Amino acid sequence: MIIPIQHPSPNHDTRDESSISMLVLHYTGMQTGAAALARLSDPAAKVSSHYLVEEDGRVFQLVDESLRAWHAGVSSWDGVHGLNAVSVGVEIVNPGHEYGYRAFPDAQMAAVEALAKEIVARHGIVKNHVVGHSDIAPLRKDDPGELFDWHRLAAAGLCVPTPRVTFDTTEISLIKGDEGVAVALLQTGLQKIGYGISINGNFDELTEAVVRAFQRRFRQSLISSTADAESRALIAALGAWVY
Ligand SMILES: [Zn+2]
Repeated sequence: MIIPIQHPSPNHDTRDESSISMLVLHYTGMQTGAAALARLSDPAAKVSSHYLVEEDGRVFQLVDESLRAWHAGVSSWDGVHGLNAVSVGVEIVNPGHEYGYRAFPDAQMAAVEALAKEIVARHGIVKNHVVGHSDIAPLRKDDPGELFDWHRLAAAGLCVPTPRVTFDTTEISLIKGDEGVAVALLQTGLQKIGYGISINGNFDELTEAVVRAFQRRFRQSLISSTADAESRALIAALGAWVY
């Protein structure tokens, strides 16, 4: 069992503990873990998380799981909005896309996996409710990003795995500005997976952001924001798999 280092943050309020049903993973997006810890405990910053995992695998606890930490912001998943109330938030130290995005070391990933296993077991969190910040706030957030090892968590049975798909490479790609039934079908698949997207048949700014978030999770080799044949096949397969 993980014994976290206690580093209490005043940035929290109350919630109904029985409502906890999601785990949200973040990167810190700051130059050092120490700077992130300081900010997540600064009353003026008004942000926090339940845990922070350092690159060397040390786990800090800032807010008790029974309390509402302030990490998700305006967010949506699986028809639920404002996910701070129902989620446990874990910040994973990484400079992020702004300050030199880099691989998450093995010691850190091992700690994330062990911590996630305990959180998921404690609250009976289902695989499809273990998500990244970019999944629940695609217009605003890129974390934990395409270098995060979701496959490792999936192999441990903690989140939805990437399905194997076959696809026709000659099939057209959908891009921003496209309209019609094919776009509506794409949006339907993304909504079934859990993304907060309306089915309006327009490949609009939100659709583009959601496709990009989807790729950071499930097609990490190419983050194009274009719904190419492979992305569309993966979205269709996952949309059918999740429910
Ligand atoms: Zn975040």
